[in-house]
Amino acid sequence: MSARSGRPGPQDPVDTVAGIGPKTAAALAAVGVRRVTDLLLHLPRRYDDRGEVLTVAEALRTGGQVLLRGRVTATAGRRVRRRLHIADGTVVDGSGSLAVRWFNQPWVAERYAGDGVEAWVYGAVGRSRHGRLQLVNPDVEPVEAEQRRDGIVPVYGRLGPLAGRRLRTVMARALEALELLEDPLPEELRNELGLPGLVASLGALHHPGSPADLQDRRRRVAALNDRESPEHRRLAFDELLALAAVVADLRARRRAQAADPIPVRGSFADTCRTLLPFELTAAQRRVVGEVLADLGRDRPMARLLQGDVGSGKTVVAVLAILAVLESGRQAALMAPTELLAEQLHRTVGALLGTTGHRIALLTGSLPASDADAVRAGLAGGSVGLAVGTHALFQEAVSFADLGLVVIDEQHRFGVAQRQRLVDKGAAPHLLVMTATPIPRSLALTVYGDLELSVVDELPPGRHPVRTEVRDPSARPRIWSFLRSEIAAGGQAYVVYPLIEGSESVEAAALEAHEADLREALGGLEIGVLHGRLGRERREEVAERFRRGELEVLMATTVIEVGVDVPAASVMVVESAERFGLSQLHQLRGRVGRGTRPSWCILVTGEAPGTDAEARLGVLARTGDGFEIAEADLRHRGPGELTGRRQWGALGFRFADLHRHRDLVALSRKVARQAADSGRLADLQNALLALHAVGDEFSIG
Ligand code: ADP
Ligand code: MG
Repeated sequence: MSARSGRPGPQDPVDTVAGIGPKTAAALAAVGVRRVTDLLLHLPRRYDDRGEVLTVAEALRTGGQVLLRGRVTATAGRRVRRRLHIADGTVVDGSGSLAVRWFNQPWVAERYAGDGVEAWVYGAVGRSRHGRLQLVNPDVEPVEAEQRRDGIVPVYGRLGPLAGRRLRTVMARALEALELLEDPLPEELRNELGLPGLVASLGALHHPGSPADLQDRRRRVAALNDRESPEHRRLAFDELLALAAVVADLRARRRAQAADPIPVRGSFADTCRTLLPFELTAAQRRVVGEVLADLGRDRPMARLLQGDVGSGKTVVAVLAILAVLESGRQAALMAPTELLAEQLHRTVGALLGTTGHRIALLTGSLPASDADAVRAGLAGGSVGLAVGTHALFQEAVSFADLGLVVIDEQHRFGVAQRQRLVDKGAAPHLLVMTATPIPRSLALTVYGDLELSVVDELPPGRHPVRTEVRDPSARPRIWSFLRSEIAAGGQAYVVYPLIEGSESVEAAALEAHEADLREALGGLEIGVLHGRLGRERREEVAERFRRGELEVLMATTVIEVGVDVPAASVMVVESAERFGLSQLHQLRGRVGRGTRPSWCILVTGEAPGTDAEARLGVLARTGDGFEIAEADLRHRGPGELTGRRQWGALGFRFADLHRHRDLVALSRKVARQAADSGRLADLQNALLALHAVGDEFSIG
């Protein structure tokens, strides 16, 4: 509590707000809301324009979205089916009467019984099947219960245990703390940037007011709903600046560090040649050269290795790891999913198996005793390389002498997570890899602390993957094509969309499709792979598919990274519109790895001519990862999915790297100026107190 007023302050725990008890506070903590500030940052989901109060007679004439004030009554409802309850009623004022129908709100019959209740009523006037004009499931706010809910009205989405009127009451109380909130941006800077203050912004987003002029009001509502208001931009800027400050700080700190150079012996090139089953491409040779040169310097390397799916980034990492192991130091290789970690462990083991260095796998699903043994080996120095997931940066893990950190699929980790692993060594070298091409301007913000190497060439003998978009009605033809490919020696993936949130939901969805697919593909050997399988089962299925015993692999996006089966030549993606383009491109990279011409068939029920269909068409046209990433950013998806997954590791709530391109550049400039004038640490702390960017883990 702030001592002065007895009111909650912004940094106080949520239970200092009247109406939030320990139980509610615990439930709020579970959704990441701990301080009053976290409540303040829960912005309305949408804004309704309830500018004009109409009479019932007018509403009957105009139709559409209307705000009325009248007496609401309801008669007893009836249960029509098990999951369908209907209640009917009316809203009446001096001018007339309008029918109301409530679906599945059985409580209204009692709430508006008898003479009913005088209320604000907001909803859409439409026609029933029988042609009657009616309001369906309107918002009804009893007049005495609330202040007027007209003008521009914020509508909040559920926040953990809080929703509806209770949430609004709590928000109103939390907002009393607003004026005590400190603005991380000095006023001078705000004026220079033309951005509103933080207190004013949050105030306006929660209480948008209502311009008297109709046109002004409509514009304002549109800007608020599009998240384009100056106040939304202000919050987006803060997040971008928080990240830019973190990145600028990492860069400055790294530059001030001394590292032990890793010497590369003259015989190293020969060793590599004997270990690798193929010749490096020219691009790989160039990039290996850049990496080895970095390792030889007395400053820690910080390099981003970018290369399209299948360009062969792994060997580059393996050679860097080998150089470090040969110098007697340790390395860590981190991947976002267990499946990928397991595949990498196998690949690295196969390449370096004869060198005598000990390589261990460390993931969350390793039996405790095995994990203990690996951790002991890392702490004691007997294990040279640890390949693993985020299990690698847990507190219990320590290294005797960590010389190199390699992170695969870097875009799936947060900046802070990357740093947690780096902090396990004394200024270790850092190599991060990603197949997600990002436009240069964005790369500078997200990876601004890193040097860039690009593997811009695919290994020889690759066929471009032919990609087609198909309607669900084409499935019989798709399955018979798949059979003929398998008869000719190919293998196939059938991929189902990730259902965000929970791997168990995902697994259930997959199981629901399994019977259908088994029937459609009767006689073929089908394996099922998803994130919920235990490690042994997962390895067994992957291994059987690799050996060709399974002809079809039915999977979730767990196969997006880390499955490398050259014989696989067909990929069918169901409900393709639910994926981001870059993700589909990455998935598609699972085929076309062998000598057979390969196919990717995107199945979507979206009608021709829709945006989703146009988006998928980009993949059919091009195999260029950069072009696809640009298109992805442009379209923004069913896009949420795209956005959140691609940039999810950044943890932005308000910022959108595409929409706020101008702010991206601005944030970088401001962070640099702050660094030059010695104010970076203060700025960073102030911003991170509000926005926890850079530390979220996106679900793999
Ligand atoms: P990504 O860049 O997507 O991580 P990988 O490192 O998994 O790609 O390589 C893809 C496949 O290409 C692997 O099967 C790998 O063995 C193979 N590969 C990599 N480099 C070469 C090369 N120079 N010649 C032939 N095959 C290669
Ligand atoms: Mg890879």
